[in-house]
Amino acid sequence: MVKENLDQVEAKIQAACERANRKREEVTLIAVTKTKPVEMLQEAYDWGSRNFGENKVQEIMEKYDQLPEDIQWHLIGHLQRNKVKYIVDKVCLIHSVDSFRLAEEINIQAKKRGIVVPVLIEVNVANEASKFGVPVEETMQLVKEIATLDGLTIRGLMCIAPYVVDSEENRPFFRKIKALSIDIEKENIDNVSMDILSMGMTGDYEVAIEEGATMVRVGTGIFGERNYNNK
Ligand SMILES: *Cc1c(COP(=O)(O)O)cnc(C)c1O
Repeated sequence: MVKENLDQVEAKIQAACERANRKREEVTLIAVTKTKPVEMLQEAYDWGSRNFGENKVQEIMEKYDQLPEDIQWHLIGHLQRNKVKYIVDKVCLIHSVDSFRLAEEINIQAKKRGIVVPVLIEVNVANEASKFGVPVEETMQLVKEIATLDGLTIRGLMCIAPYVVDSEENRPFFRKIKALSIDIEKENIDNVSMDILSMGMTGDYEVAIEEGATMVRVGTGIFGERNYNNK
């Protein structure tokens, strides 16, 4: 099943790239593996997947040692400050930085290890009370503050668009994030680049690619529905 799903997602990514006149290499597919057993991750790995996304620190820690070393782990879920120390040197990118306090802790832990941690700023693009992320209007200010910390480097923006039945409804939100990234880029802030836009999930990744996503995070579309009761 994983193989067929991966093929299908790949075909849709390619088609979306073509529609948008973009190169396939501009978009990285992150296979979102939360709640899924390591056997399934290994299967995706065997079919070529190298970028895996998890939303819980504990789960990355459990899976990390059981799987090949060349996997790129992405932390895509909310990160608590007291857990930063466990994963700063295990993940290739933290997608979910949304406060200066969290960035400060990442900075401290990065310096202890002599590394620079790449991060994205998570934007609450639709101002949903249920979601983490910084409001659009406050993003520029937060980027400027976090950019002063040299234990991390800001690589772009991330958003989780609302859950919708018709993915077209999310197009304006993806446009908003793209426009915001261009505004930030124009400021030429030291330690900030906007080359990554992490947006689009199973329900809306094609629209996200059309609007400029460089990373899409697809779980259900590759591994099937999640069963949280088993976990
Ligand atoms: C679970 C999750 C995804 C994947 O969601 P699907 O709808 O299963 O593709 C993407 N991004 C984040 C932040 C998630 O937590």
